[in-house]
Order: sequence, then structure tokens, then C-alpha cells
Amino acid sequence: MLDGCGRTIDYLRLSVTDLCNYRCRYCMPAEGVCKRPHADILSVEELVEIGRAAVACGVKKIRLTGGEPLVRRGILDICRGLRAISGLEELCLTTNGSLLPSMAAPLREAGVDRLNISLDTLRPDRFREITRIGALSDVLEGIQAAERAGFQDLKLDTVLIGGFNDDEIGDFLALTMKHPWEVRFIELMPMGPCADWEKSCFLSVDTILQRYSALQQIDPQGVARRYRLPGAKGTVGLISPMSHDFCADCRRIRVTADGKLKGCLHSREELPLRGFHGKDLEDAIRRGILQKPRRHHLSEGASDTPRTMNQIGG
Ligand code: SAM
Ligand code: SF4
Repeated sequence: MLDGCGRTIDYLRLSVTDLCNYRCRYCMPAEGVCKRPHADILSVEELVEIGRAAVACGVKKIRLTGGEPLVRRGILDICRGLRAISGLEELCLTTNGSLLPSMAAPLREAGVDRLNISLDTLRPDRFREITRIGALSDVLEGIQAAERAGFQDLKLDTVLIGGFNDDEIGDFLALTMKHPWEVRFIELMPMGPCADWEKSCFLSVDTILQRYSALQQIDPQGVARRYRLPGAKGTVGLISPMSHDFCADCRRIRVTADGKLKGCLHSREELPLRGFHGKDLEDAIRRGILQKPRRHHLSEGASDTPRTMNQIGG
């Protein structure tokens, strides 16, 4: 359906947990988040009911996110329940990849169509530093497991952080020469723990175009501008919420793990969905879509949301 600004809304990012087995420095505090009572988090049935109502309102694609969706108990039931919704064209999942070695095949069997795997560095020491607790080898094994399980067109999502990984851009681009993956560079957004990081950490993805003039532009996809190196098997995506906001073309709504509909990642406005069922739930989602903010105001300062990224679903 159309929102109040005439944009088609057909994409739901559905968060299944706030919890994560990593503590990425820009996303979560070192101590993690307080584990909430089980009852505060949407149940498997509620998540599927919300998915069904969203599809009735025009959603065609659902992405499961978090926190880390693969630490959520019942994640396979959630996937199966959503996949069974008629009218849903695509079920995707964003993961840090660490649990894919054992879960890639079951996720595929449960009906997940596509995976995005977050990977900010290809160096083991840096990986440990940015995630505080993770091991790069787990994610690299996870990527292989995903390919073995039949996931095609894998997307690797890399948050570009000045002074941390901008000297690895060439290494990431080199991956696209050998593999049919899309490596996507995402601008760091000032929210939560990184809201007060130094300006030099926030690099425009245009830096990549300036440094690598061989990149040839191809068709955009969603919010990503896309490029390819001559002879490459894979592609490169640039996602620039800071330097070129894509609000005018935004097709998304979000639902947090505690059941709040958010029209915009960066807005304070939230609409509770819990307690609504059937037509009432659909009406609540329609109200949320109609109230979707026109744009965010990141370029004028920090995000307006009081939540950290893991509490929204990045
Ligand atoms: N745990 C999963 C993962 O890491 O892929 C899913 C949730 S995570 C919040 C989703 C994405 O948001 C990740 O790619 C992460 O790097 C990104 N992210 C988190 N905080 C961010 C920020 N401040 N700016 C840009 N991207 C951010
Ligand atoms: Fe966890 Fe993903 Fe946030 Fe990293 S970015 S702490 S993996 S939710």
C-alpha cells in the first residue's frame, strides 16, 4: 500500500530478538543488553501473525533481523510459519554468520530465500576487536556453509568505518573477482554507542568510487547503488544513508522484537501492535504505514531514536 507520502511500502524488517552473541562496538554496549522476560518478546505465533497481516497490507518481502536472529529460540519455526504465508514473495535474513556452520542448511529447508551476512573486516585481530568476542573463522565457515546449503547471490554487508577498515576496501573488492557475491559497503550511522564517535569514523561510501575508478556502474537494487569491477563474478553495492539519503524511495517498515511498528529506523515514533489480531492488526499496520515519517534527520545530527540498532533490527 501507499504511505502518506505516496511511497509504496512492500518490505518489512521483522526483528526476532534484541540479543546477540557478538557485541559490535558501534551497535551494542560491552555488557550486552538485559535479557527481557520472555513475555516481553513477540512469540513465534505473534511474529507469524504480524507477518500475515503485513502481507495482507501489501508487504511482499520480509527480512528477519535482530539482534542476532540465529540466537532466537524457535527461529526455524518462525521461518517455516512466514514462508507458508501466501503472497509473500521473499523471505530473507540478516545474520552475523557465526552460527551458519550448523544452521545454514536448516534455514534453507525452513524456506529462507536469501541471506545477508555482516562482515566488517577480513583480519582476525580486527574482527575480534570490533565484535569484542567473535572469531572471523566462524563467519568464513558460515559463508561456505551457506553456499553449500544452496544460498545463491549472497550479500556481505560491511559497515565502512574510517580508521578501522577503510584500508581493507581493496581486499573486499577482490572477493568479488573470485566469488559471485555482492559486497555492500554501508555508511556508519551515528546512533547508540557510536553516536559520539569522532567525525573521521563516518566516511562517505563515495570514497570507494574516488579510490577505485575501475568500478563500473550497473543497475541499482533497492537502496543500493551497484557497481562491478571488469571481469568480476560478483558485484559491489554502496548504501549511503548519510551522504545521499534514500528516504524518498524507502519501501520499508520495521517491527521491533517487543512488537512496536516503526516507520523509520531513526524516528522516536512507535506504534504498539501487540494485542491486535485479525482485521484490527491489519488496521494498526495500515495506520503505521500512513504515519511513516517523510525522512530522517541524520545529516543534521544524530538519530532521534532512543533505541540501539540491535533493539530495532538493523
Ligand atoms: N546481528 C545481525 C548482523 O549483524 O547482521 C543482524 C542485526 S545487525 C543490527 C544488522 C546490520 O546493522 C549489521 O550489518 C550491522 O553491521 C548494521 N549496523 C549496526 N549498527 C550500525 C550503525 N550504527 N550504522 C550502520 N550499520 C549498523
Ligand atoms: Fe550483534 Fe549484529 Fe549488533 Fe553486531 S551488528 S552486535 S552482530 S546485532
